[in-house]
Amino acid sequence: MTDVEHQKWWGWGVEGIAFHHEDKPAFAGFVLDKVGIDLTQPGGEPPTFDEIEVPASRLGDDLGAQLRAAVGDHQVSTDDMLRVVHTYGKGMRDLVRVRAGDLPRVPDAVVYPANEDEVRAVVDAVVAADAVLIPFGGGSNISGSLTPQPHEERTVISLDLGRMNRVLEIDESSGLARIQAGGLGPDIEEQLTTRGWTMGHQPDSFKHSTLGGWIATRSSGMQSDKYGDIADITRGFRVVLPGKVVELRPLPSTSTGPSVREMIIGSEGRLGVVTEAWVNVHRVPENRDVIAYLFPNWAAGLAAMAEISTSDASPTITRVSDANETSFSLATRKASKGISGKVGEGLFEVLRRRGWDLEKVCLSYIGYEGGTAKIRAEKSIVGKIIGKHGGIRLGRGPGALYDQKKFDTPYIRDFLLDRGAIGDVSETAAPWSKLGQVYTTTVRAARAKFAELGVTGFIMCHLSHSYHSGACLYFTFAFPPNADDDFLGQYDAVKTVIQQSFIDSGATLSHHHGVGTDHAPWLEQDISEAGTDLMVGLLRAADPGRNLNPGTLI
Ligand code: FAD
Repeated sequence: MTDVEHQKWWGWGVEGIAFHHEDKPAFAGFVLDKVGIDLTQPGGEPPTFDEIEVPASRLGDDLGAQLRAAVGDHQVSTDDMLRVVHTYGKGMRDLVRVRAGDLPRVPDAVVYPANEDEVRAVVDAVVAADAVLIPFGGGSNISGSLTPQPHEERTVISLDLGRMNRVLEIDESSGLARIQAGGLGPDIEEQLTTRGWTMGHQPDSFKHSTLGGWIATRSSGMQSDKYGDIADITRGFRVVLPGKVVELRPLPSTSTGPSVREMIIGSEGRLGVVTEAWVNVHRVPENRDVIAYLFPNWAAGLAAMAEISTSDASPTITRVSDANETSFSLATRKASKGISGKVGEGLFEVLRRRGWDLEKVCLSYIGYEGGTAKIRAEKSIVGKIIGKHGGIRLGRGPGALYDQKKFDTPYIRDFLLDRGAIGDVSETAAPWSKLGQVYTTTVRAARAKFAELGVTGFIMCHLSHSYHSGACLYFTFAFPPNADDDFLGQYDAVKTVIQQSFIDSGATLSHHHGVGTDHAPWLEQDISEAGTDLMVGLLRAADPGRNLNPGTLI
């Protein structure tokens, strides 16, 4: 059997790793206060696999034989657990449904190709059989982009790229690397850094997402201010379509009409299978520093981030949390570590004496990379801007905390689900001039919906990923649903008002989680009716039989 490793079938990450609160003294009080959950009560357990019923595979003998001929007997699986792992991503809707054993349509087989020739053979066989093919990277998407359509009558094949995970070549003169699409973040970075290079793309899902998935969902990493989003980083690729391969050589720029590169980036498996890509890579930086700062309020933090984006400094990370997210960060700190040292020294008392309202303070992280002189100069510029907006520097210790926590926090959604509560995210981007309004409208809409549902809800936000003309706002919300209505119905109600408030206040439906099925209802409002028509035409031309991941995007 294949040796590709997968995430838990019921939740985020790998077995044996979970979120714990016992080492975070302030967390239980915070959760009780904000969402009314008493952590002194034992949480529930995730279901066991035996408790769920998996529909039988419908893989027919003919297609099965062709797939086995294409990739080898051991790389085609109809195993129930593997098919369930390949049914959902890791969105809240996915987690709730998979835990409940809600499996209307499960892929009939999972196929693990080793190279592009095998991908071509699989794609051709699937399309010739009028079956459905769904490319699978790490399964980490949170927009419902790889789940088979519930009433799909045709055979469904999940094509897992996990064996194609090698860095194939590095063009050192150009700062380009050719990398197979199934490489997970750690696979790729390990192979690059041993040769002195980095891609610099670090989404929070880094450990469990792949290059192909990043490209297919227009991903963005936490250091995008320096390295760019995946749409900037990806310079060329090979994409397998039925009977042909789209090949785009890596070019720094080109004027060859509407960009095929941009058509593929964000295509969520509907325009073919990305097998490898040329991406920008950089020399591993000499130094890396993340410094924490504190602002007296959200407006000051936003104004400072906007000013930094047009300054002579070019940090790798610009991030500021609103007051709610700041209180969450403080509540998740471990005993006597990081920022608590500062707090313990009476910093907050000093700030209070200076007239700060401690309910409104906003924590910020700014990342720096490069030579010592460059970093020093950038810190000086940033420090002045932060001071001008009333902020203060906390230092490197709290900054290191950000690096430590960034890959752990995702486990918190399963922790909340075990206690009957929903915790999820919605993110967007808008011009600087609109960000304040997007924030206010969204928070207000979510709170109004919490009140309507009669639930104790919490919403927090941070700004990250700064651009010349605007930035991303990333909202996290949590609430224990009331007993009157269905769990997912209440989740949908909150998610819907948040998404609609993005559109209504001039922001996009998503900055980096793609469209999938979850965000598809807002696509036309985002790109206009005529824009949607263009997209429909493209998808029809590329895939007239709707064999490639139908249902996602449109
Ligand atoms: P999958 O989930 O396997 O697939 C996603 C889509 O891409 C599907 O439509 C699939 O068919 C298609 N696809 C996959 N591989 C290929 C291929 N080779 N060719 C064609 N189509 C393909 N995203 C960010 O951008 N930044 C973040 O910081 C971030 N943080 C996250 C944190 C958590 C806790 C979670 C759960 C998700 C987060 N995400 C983030 C979302 C997710 O990780 C991204 O959408 C990621 O790009 C998906 O990659 P994947 O390899 O897991 O793709």
